[in-house]
Amino acid sequence: MRENYRNLKVAVLGGGTVGSEVANRLLVNREELGRRIGAELDLIGVAVRDASKSRRTSIPKNLLTTDARSLVVSADIVVELMGGIEPARELILLALESGADVITANKALLAAHGPQLFDAAATVGAQLYYEAAAAGAIPIIRPLRDSLAGDEVHRILGIVNGTTNFILDLMDTTGESMEQALATATELGYAEADPTADVGGYDAQQKAALLAQLAFHTAIPLEEVGREGITEITLEQVNQAKHAGYVIKLLAICERIGLPEGGYGVSVRVHPTLVPRSHPLAAVHGANNAVFVEAEAAGSLMFYGAGAGGPETASAVLGDIVSAARRHVVGGPGVAESTHADLPVVDPGLVPTRYQISLSVTDQPGVLASIASIFSDAGVSVETLSQSTPHDAVGEPQTATLVIQTHQASEADLSQTVEKLASSPVVHQVAGVVRVEG
Ligand code: NAP
Repeated sequence: MRENYRNLKVAVLGGGTVGSEVANRLLVNREELGRRIGAELDLIGVAVRDASKSRRTSIPKNLLTTDARSLVVSADIVVELMGGIEPARELILLALESGADVITANKALLAAHGPQLFDAAATVGAQLYYEAAAAGAIPIIRPLRDSLAGDEVHRILGIVNGTTNFILDLMDTTGESMEQALATATELGYAEADPTADVGGYDAQQKAALLAQLAFHTAIPLEEVGREGITEITLEQVNQAKHAGYVIKLLAICERIGLPEGGYGVSVRVHPTLVPRSHPLAAVHGANNAVFVEAEAAGSLMFYGAGAGGPETASAVLGDIVSAARRHVVGGPGVAESTHADLPVVDPGLVPTRYQISLSVTDQPGVLASIASIFSDAGVSVETLSQSTPHDAVGEPQTATLVIQTHQASEADLSQTVEKLASSPVVHQVAGVVRVEG
């Protein structure tokens, strides 16, 4: 222990899945944490909505309070684990104004109000830590902010939502339909009663904005992050992907791209993506998360582990608490948010991508030529084409399934192609369009 260094007061806002774990570990590991920091941490209270509620990880009754404001103004370190926008935003601002360092796991709040919170922290010289806000237990914020601070990140491909990875993985490995896999995810506690934030890609969109901001030193407004969820993905598409040597993953893709007019821009988007089975991200199973980073000098790096869970997320939060506490003990300016590059954020629709399109077509001579001319008229070049021909009841071929992979094409050219395909007399149905990466 540093001689004469006073104990530091820690307030935890929220005593739910993560908050109760953090509070418990602060109490149980108090001595060891004190040795690591050079000062002891006094947990002065845990703010909740209902102090009488029973909790999975118990918190001593005398620490529970419904008066979050009084707790915040008495603390050296405030740990926000309530979630949501208000009152979390207001309480974090109050904490920063009172001179406390703040730790949060709240990606929704950071994605919506990050600049305001980071400005408030910079104004008073306080720190705002958020390692748990993207990919749970996986250390990815510090590597992007500190370890790779001397390198140039080109691209991040992230599986940052465990629920959707669980669902897509189940479809791929057991052949369950989207509906069945979602029901299994809900039953096992991987999906919420209302799964929209996960399956709609909103949660991944928030995390993509946070990662891209760090990687490219550019503020990323949430509305400029392209978002597409997994709800339209069918078992047939998953099986076609498997047959072609791919797996479908919901990826957060953050890229630094050259602009036609010179210089660089940033593209940030979330969508279901075909990933080759040989790519490290294809081996991310269940509800796990992984972030694959491509950097100029470091090359390819992969960060892998649990993206959620009380104890797992608490690990990342406690790491932030130790960092904040050490700064109180040894001083120093801490790390400011870096947005100096201020690169233009490019409309995701303008970024060329490879696509896989599945079509159900009439099985007769001349169909392939007719389909090929639709692609070439729209300026979209076909890379591979495979055909399977189911037979009708009397054994005569009636329709065929075509799976076509394109070279890189813009979204505008691709949409034009899909529109023409859909209205072609030989096409029964455009069964699916998925982007390809890796
Ligand atoms: P949770 O289980 O729903 O817990 C929320 C806690 O906040 C509860 O204890 C609740 O009190 C308290 N609370 C909510 N609104 C409040 C208010 N107005 N005043 C006082 N207390 C209030 O949430 P969680 O899963 O622990 O998540 C917390 C944060 O961590 C969120 O930002 C989430 O996105 C983030 N996160 C969670 C995970 C995860 O695996 N769960 C992973 C990464 C990040 P009561 O208990 O009395 O209702």
